[in-house]
Amino acid sequence: MLVVMERAATAEQVQEVVRRVEAMGYQARALTGRQRTAVAILGNEGSVDTGRFADLGGIKACVSISEPYRQVAREWQPENTVVRLPNGVSIGGDEIVVMAGPCSVESERQIVETARRVRAAGATVLRGGAFKPRTSPYSFQGLGEQGLAWLAQARTETGLAIVTEVMDTESVDLVARHADVLQIGARNMQNFSLLRRVGQAGKPVLLKRGYAATVAELLLAAEYVLAEGNEQVILCERGVRGFDGATRFVLDLAAIPLVHRLSHLPIVADPSHGTGIRGKVLPMARAAVAAGADGLLVEVHPTPERALSDGVQSISPEEFVELMRQCRAIADVLGRRIAEPAG
Ligand code: PEP
Ligand code: MN
Repeated sequence: MLVVMERAATAEQVQEVVRRVEAMGYQARALTGRQRTAVAILGNEGSVDTGRFADLGGIKACVSISEPYRQVAREWQPENTVVRLPNGVSIGGDEIVVMAGPCSVESERQIVETARRVRAAGATVLRGGAFKPRTSPYSFQGLGEQGLAWLAQARTETGLAIVTEVMDTESVDLVARHADVLQIGARNMQNFSLLRRVGQAGKPVLLKRGYAATVAELLLAAEYVLAEGNEQVILCERGVRGFDGATRFVLDLAAIPLVHRLSHLPIVADPSHGTGIRGKVLPMARAAVAAGADGLLVEVHPTPERALSDGVQSISPEEFVELMRQCRAIADVLGRRIAEPAG
């Protein structure tokens, strides 16, 4: 539950509420928003007797949070969370942020060339996996630390921010030393120790929806990160498993407006994994922007037919240019714009 304070409530009145909540045996957390403060009540199993606050001043309303998640809920924070990256790009505001790059970092040349080309087309964040969660242990597993170093080099040469996956708690510090955004893959969405650990890493987190996870489970996974004090979370719709193998996954675009209603966190869409088919990435990128996505995560490879992972769903740099052109037009209809690289 939230005790929402009047705009003019004094710090002393907020403290009174905190003391009262603690006296009731619960934890209290004062949340200072742009317009007003609210005191969140944590640790209650059932409903809280709001009559216990009746004699306190400065209270506007007591709002029960209906969903099991709290800090990610729109009720908890009405304003959108805006995640700011070191290169000046913000995710969750008016601008739509396009993150593009190969599934995996394969060589210095491959990642630097891709970075240059996606930047030239208008991407502001470079994606690329150094630690790859592959279904088969015999598939290419990524270049590890060397891949991170080449990503960092591509950042130096282009000014793009870097998003890359961290697969386990042991490598969080290593990946966080290089990455601007820590990606949690679909297969790890409910790896709770990893979620807690990235919650402590001090870097923004891109949390991909598990392909058998509900929207509520995605939000509860994000709650783990926020519960550790890290509010810089970007959600990612990347498709769920359906009955029809005609596409690799079913990109659940309804999740985008749904998440926007339920949560203040930004949500981006991944039309590459969401379809698994190169020729379907562009139309679903357009559709995701039209559905209100705060960004796109797109696999782009200089030679998709030679990619070491996910080549069949990777688009070429030329195709990416066209994707950007069409997505700019869709964004324009919505009164939004695609973030462009500085300078
Ligand atoms: C990826 O982004 O390359 C990836 C492995 O994604 P997901 O975790 O969504 O399958
Ligand atoms: Mn991939």
